[in-house]
Amino acid sequence: MAVFKSFRKFHAYAAVALCLVRPGSIGAQSTTGAQNQDQEVQMGQEVFNELKAKGEIIESSPLYDELKPIADAITQAAQPRYNHPFKFYLVHETQPNAFATPGGNVYVVDSLMYFVKNKEQLAGTLCHEVSHTIHHDTMALMEKQQKIEEREVAAAVIMGPTKAHILAIALVGKLHSLNYSRDAEEQADLTGADICAQTDYNPWELVWLFQDFQNAKTNQIPQLLSDHPNDQNRVNALEQHFHKNPSVFGKFNPDQKSATPLSIQKGAPEVFLH
Ligand SMILES: [Zn+2]
Repeated sequence: MAVFKSFRKFHAYAAVALCLVRPGSIGAQSTTGAQNQDQEVQMGQEVFNELKAKGEIIESSPLYDELKPIADAITQAAQPRYNHPFKFYLVHETQPNAFATPGGNVYVVDSLMYFVKNKEQLAGTLCHEVSHTIHHDTMALMEKQQKIEEREVAAAVIMGPTKAHILAIALVGKLHSLNYSRDAEEQADLTGADICAQTDYNPWELVWLFQDFQNAKTNQIPQLLSDHPNDQNRVNALEQHFHKNPSVFGKFNPDQKSATPLSIQKGAPEVFLH
């Protein structure tokens, strides 16, 4: 959520993966919308392949029992806004996180399932991530980061012909320096709230996340929330959005006490995709 710093890692994955699949990408030729769509699918596949190769993708786990109803509801609400199927995967990493890549894949880190306080917070995080995909934010990020990509591609070309693979490996480990713009984050918040409202998961959940965050001690803030710990602007933008659209948002209770607890037993077994 780049509310949510570690989302940056995946934003970054996606940005670089895109340059992997764009032949002659250094020249940055303009492409048609259809071509961009193809690239989005390929970019998503590159990231999937890399996560799979690292053994991070969870094939089965009781955690899916908690995730699936939320993922299904979000898919139903969000799918009309994007032309490739959304698919949700659990992945194993230590930092609570969630990230969506172009092409429709959404990854939920297992530790996020333990971190969120209620179903609404999980839904809100995923609605926000899905919105980045819907907005094609990775394209904008890619252009912004063009110079960085050029250096990466140039380095990979020197190293040999399998630059896509080399880049994918390089990126998985190190990319913490790319981020969506504040505006892109705010827009993803608002679209995410719209999507969540359609699912009937309370869209105030995004505000609650920010508030929890502001109240947490710095060393308790997980990486995914540490990027904009005091982002009152985003809370204000969400609240304005809610007040401007009472027919959509008026029925939801702004009090977090109304949330539905998400109780997951620690240490749920996980079987990995190979
Ligand atoms: Zn974000």
